[in-house]
Amino acid sequence: VLAGLYNPGDGHIDPYSLTMALAAGARKYGAQLNYPVQVTNLKSRSDGTWDVETPLGIIRAKRIVNAAGFWARDIGKMIGLQHPLIPVHHQYVVTSTIPEVKALKTELPVIRDLEGSYYLRQERDGLLFGPYESEEKMKLQDSWVTNGVPPGFGKELFESDLDRIMEHIEAAMEMVPVLKKADIVNTIAGPITYSPDILPMVGPHQGVRNYWVAIGFGYGIIHAGGIGKYLSDWILEGEPPFDLIELDPNRYGKWTTREYTAAKARESYGFNNIVGYPKEERFAGRPTERTSGLYDLLKSECSMGFHAGWEQPHWFYKPGDETGYKPSFRRTNWFDPVGREYKQVMEKVGVIDLSPFGKFKVKGSDSVKLLDHLFANVVPKVGSTNISHMLTPRGKVYAELTVSQLYPGEFMLITGSGSELHDLRWIEEEVMRGGYKVEIENVTDEMGVLGVAGPYARQILQKLTREDLSDADETVNLVCVTGELGWELYHRKEDSVALYSAIMEAGQKEGIDNFGTYALNALRLEKGFRAWGAEMNCDTNPLEAGLEYFVKLNK
Ligand SMILES: Cc1cc2nc3c(=O)[nH]c(=O)nc-3n(C[C@H](O)[C@H](O)[C@H](O)COP(=O)(O)OP(=O)(O)OC[C@H]3O[C@@H](n4cnc5c(N)ncnc54)[C@H](O)[C@@H]3O)c2cc1C
Repeated sequence: VLAGLYNPGDGHIDPYSLTMALAAGARKYGAQLNYPVQVTNLKSRSDGTWDVETPLGIIRAKRIVNAAGFWARDIGKMIGLQHPLIPVHHQYVVTSTIPEVKALKTELPVIRDLEGSYYLRQERDGLLFGPYESEEKMKLQDSWVTNGVPPGFGKELFESDLDRIMEHIEAAMEMVPVLKKADIVNTIAGPITYSPDILPMVGPHQGVRNYWVAIGFGYGIIHAGGIGKYLSDWILEGEPPFDLIELDPNRYGKWTTREYTAAKARESYGFNNIVGYPKEERFAGRPTERTSGLYDLLKSECSMGFHAGWEQPHWFYKPGDETGYKPSFRRTNWFDPVGREYKQVMEKVGVIDLSPFGKFKVKGSDSVKLLDHLFANVVPKVGSTNISHMLTPRGKVYAELTVSQLYPGEFMLITGSGSELHDLRWIEEEVMRGGYKVEIENVTDEMGVLGVAGPYARQILQKLTREDLSDADETVNLVCVTGELGWELYHRKEDSVALYSAIMEAGQKEGIDNFGTYALNALRLEKGFRAWGAEMNCDTNPLEAGLEYFVKLNK
């Protein structure tokens, strides 16, 4: 051992006592707990409330929170949802008394050995040891995904399998030699529910009104109290008390299939103790069924990044480049190529696949009224586009969208790839609350987007259209994320290859070339263009984020 980190605040707690303490606290503040009462069905009513069916009768609820642990998927199925959750087998072993441990004056701290991939702590006068196996060795309980949790399964355990964790036991014996003389007196093997990225799903769910979730907890004991407080604050105040976007249940969607969930859970479990790198990419389960129209054409020419189910070029290869994904804490293989792409856009012209943007069409007799209510900016005129922010009741930035009025009363709303269902849920909630007469169509998967940016963008695109592009003014620059003269071309996904090929051909003389999202990010930062989730979120108000230009106080 060369060095270690000591955390004096670390510890352990008996989960049963913790649960009882939280229940007692909830009762103290007026909660009524009925236990054990099984929820057998859920029915939503037209006014947005719920009928929760139980053997004791129906409970009428304003909203429901699915917090059903590894049964959460079964509860979701009652209302037609397929939550991307899968139980994994996790084991720990407890040893008999070890004299050296018994002789200790103070309790051992919890030890985590990242290389050996295990945790180890004192349990009475012995030790408790829990490993995380590699992704090849770990075990998923996939039959529960298909068939549900077997009726009656409650406090039972799985059969233990010491062979699966033997290499970790040996690593622990190397690190803590007294383990060699200890007998294993107990092995616990139980289910832990994994979401694809191992983070829980917490908050309101898009597409089902007043349905909230607190599910997918890989570390549910440690998270329990904080998540309870976070959710109750959100429900009472009408907005999240602080940003926890990583846990948004709406980061997943129809593309998170069973196969994807299983592949990802396997990877996440196996990577439990690995060192994470900046701009880390994980490859299990990719590509999903959600690919851009250009994916097949570009996949061998670039390093792809994963964005909400999509593959999007991060940077493109040229002869002499070291290709592939090479993570590092230092400048790595993409650094110079990204500089090259940056220059390409600044000095000539570049093309980028922006298809992962979230895209919604909004129309109907109340569409202008709705957008005026939703956004801090004014509603753009017909034929115009602006950047607009949805603010929470406390005035924090919940979302940033690009809004275009295509025809009178018909709008196109664009948001970042990861924000699609996050933003849509908020919009739908406001539509229901205000009774606005509008139709919203999510066209994210049907439409492709190509960005063309740089000083030659206009002359190249002019070759391909009869429209006069000479009057492109600064509004275009403002909306184009690169900050250079540029256009974003929204089109049917099946036309992406034809459009891309036509642009590349038209721009040959001007030296047109590809660029990826790493260069895009550098370009937008230099122009001071903020991005939701990076420079602003629901912890900041628009003034703090320097967005006053987009906030019209007198509208
Ligand atoms: C071996 C092992 C070691 C672990 N170690 C740790 C650790 O060190 N630290 C840590 O933080 N976590 C640990 N965990 C994980 C932790 O146990 C879980 O993350 C946590 O228990 C999940 O809590 P939960 O409230 O989400 O779900 P659960 O504890 O599963 O609770 C779900 C509840 O929903 C109820 N329910 C289900 N269906 C229905 C229905 N139809 N009607 C009514 N009620 C229903 C169930 O009865 C249950 O009470 C470990 C897990 C295992 C197996």
